[in-house]
Amino acid sequence: MSFEDLGLEPTLLKAIAEAGYETPTPIQKAAIPEALAGRDVLGIAQTGTGKTASFTLPMIQRLSKGRARARMPRSLVLAPTRELAAQVADNFEKYGKHHKLSMALLIGGVSFADQDAKLTRGVDVLIATPGRLLDHFERGRLLLTGIEVMVVDEADRMLDMGFIPDIERIFKLTPITRQTLFFSATMPPEIQRITDMFLHRPARIEV
Ligand code: AMP
Repeated sequence: MSFEDLGLEPTLLKAIAEAGYETPTPIQKAAIPEALAGRDVLGIAQTGTGKTASFTLPMIQRLSKGRARARMPRSLVLAPTRELAAQVADNFEKYGKHHKLSMALLIGGVSFADQDAKLTRGVDVLIATPGRLLDHFERGRLLLTGIEVMVVDEADRMLDMGFIPDIERIFKLTPITRQTLFFSATMPPEIQRITDMFLHRPARIEV
C-alpha cells in the first residue's frame, strides 16, 4: 500500500514526496483513511512510529476548505511538553507547505502578546500545551466552540504530568460534533476512562 492509496489530495502527496517518504508506516496506513472519513481515532502507538503524520495529514486535508475566524481556532492539538508541541508545529509546516493554513503555537516561555496577536488574526491550527491554552482561555482571549478537529498527543505522558483534569476541561469546552484523534503509547485505566467519555465510536488502532 502506498501513500496514493490512502485518499490524500495531490498537494499533500507532493509534500510527502518532498519529505522523502516512500511508504506509509503501519499507523499511517490504518489511521489516515479512518481520519479522512471523519471517524474518531484511538491510536495506541509509541513515538517513532510516524504517528504525527497520521493525524497532521488528515487535519490539513480537512482544514484546506474553510476559513478561520478571529479567536476561534478550527483545530487544536494538545501536547504534553513545549518540545513536543514545537515538533508537531514543524510537522504541520513540512506537510502543509503547499496549503495556506494559519497556525499558532501556545506554549510557555513565549510572550502572550505574540500568541494573542495570532489568535486575533484567526488560526486554522492551534498547537498547545494544556496549561498555556487554559491561561489564554481564562483571560478571555480564545473560544474553543469552533473546533472541528481535536488531537491529544502522548496522552499517557499527560497523565504522568497531572494534566488529565485540564484535558477533561478542554474537551468540555469544545463542540461535541468535533472529530477527535487521540494517541497514547499505553492505555492505563485513567486514559481509558477519558477515551470512553469523549471519543465517539473510535477506530482503535494499535501498532
Ligand atoms: P513520529 O513517530 O511522528 O515522531 O515520527 C518519527 C519520524 O519518522 C519523524 O522523523 C518523521 O519525519 C519520520 N516519518 C514519518 N512518517 C514516515 C514515513 N512514512 N517514511 C519515512 N519516515 C517517516
